[in-house]
Amino acid sequence: MLNRRNFLKLAGTIGAGMFLDIYSSDIVKAIEQAAQEKGVKLVWIQGQSDSGCTISLLQGSHPDIYDAIMKLNVDIRFHPTIMAAQGEEAMAALNIEPDVLVVEGAIPDPKFATMGDRPVIDILKELAAKTKIAVVAVGACATYGGIPAANGNVTNSMGVQYHKGKKGGALGADYKSKAGLPVVNLPGDPAHPDHILLTLSAVILGEIPELDEKGRPKFLFSDNIHDQCDRRGFYDKGEFAKSFHETDFSHEKCLYKLGCRGPVTNSDCAYRKWNSGINVCMNGGAPCIGCFNEGFPDDMSPLFETIENVPALIGINVATAGKIAVAATALGIAAHAIRRGVSKNPKRTEEEK
Ligand code: SF4
Repeated sequence: MLNRRNFLKLAGTIGAGMFLDIYSSDIVKAIEQAAQEKGVKLVWIQGQSDSGCTISLLQGSHPDIYDAIMKLNVDIRFHPTIMAAQGEEAMAALNIEPDVLVVEGAIPDPKFATMGDRPVIDILKELAAKTKIAVVAVGACATYGGIPAANGNVTNSMGVQYHKGKKGGALGADYKSKAGLPVVNLPGDPAHPDHILLTLSAVILGEIPELDEKGRPKFLFSDNIHDQCDRRGFYDKGEFAKSFHETDFSHEKCLYKLGCRGPVTNSDCAYRKWNSGINVCMNGGAPCIGCFNEGFPDDMSPLFETIENVPALIGINVATAGKIAVAATALGIAAHAIRRGVSKNPKRTEEEK
C-alpha cells in the first residue's frame, strides 16, 4: 500500500505521468478513502491574474482535470473561470468553510481587484480565516507578487503570504489555517499542473508536504534546474550559444550566455518537463527566466543578460553596484563561482575569458 510519505517521496523523484501510471490505483484508493472521510470542499479565487495557472491546470493530462476532480473527489464550490453560476448565485457559493482555498493571482489594494462588489483582499481574508486544511497559492503572482508586484507596483500588489522574498503579504506572516498550516506556495509563471495536483493530493491526504523557507514543498523545489538540465553537458564543455540562431539542439549549445537563470533557480521542471513531459523552456531554445524565484521578475531582469550582468542575482544592490569597488569584486567572485564547472575546460578558457 502506498502510504502518504511514500507518496511524497515518489512524486518528487519521478515524473508525475510515470508516477501516476505506475501508482495510479494505489493513489486513487488512498485519495478516495481520505476524500470520502473528509468531504473535501475546495474554493478557487483569483486576484490580479490572467488565469494562466488555471489554463495550465486545464492542460494537465496525467490525470486531466476531469479525471483529477473525479479521482480526488473534490467538490469545487467556486472557480470564477470555469464555474457555470453567475452573479449573486456564484457569490453565494463563497458562504462556506472551505477545506482547501486555492488563490491564483496577486492581491492588490482593495479597489484594484474585486469579485462581485467586494475587494478580493477582503474575500481572501474572510475565507482564509475559515479554511480548515490549507491555503494554497498557485503561480508567481499569488506566491510572491509576480509581474503585478514588479517595480512600479502602482496597485500595491503582493503575494498571499509573501511580498517578493519577505514573509507578510496579504494574509500576514503569522497566518495559519485552522489545521495550523502556513500558506503553501507553488510558484511558477504559470504553476506546473503536476505541482498543483500533487500538492492538492497531498493536502487532501491530510499531510502537508515539508516546506522550504519560501513556503514551497521541498519535494518539488529542492533540485536546481541547471543540475538537471539536458543541456548541462554543453555547459560543462564550455559550448555556449552566442545568439538565438544557435539555440536548437542541432547546435549543441548551452543557453547560459543568452541569460539562462537555470543556475539560480530551483524546481523539478527540468526533468518533470511540461505538456505531459514533452518539453521545458531550455529544450525549446528559450533560456530559463527564473519564474520560480521569489524575486521574479525584478531580480531576474534584465532578461537575456548573463547572470554576472544582473547584480540583484548575486546580492548586489543595483543602485550602488556600479559605484562601489567591493561590488565589482563580489561580482567577479560570484561569476567565477557560477562558472566553476567550466573553469577546467580548455575550450572555455579560450572562448569565455
Ligand atoms: S545554463 Fe541553462 S541551458 Fe545551460 S545547462 Fe544550465 S540550465 Fe541548461
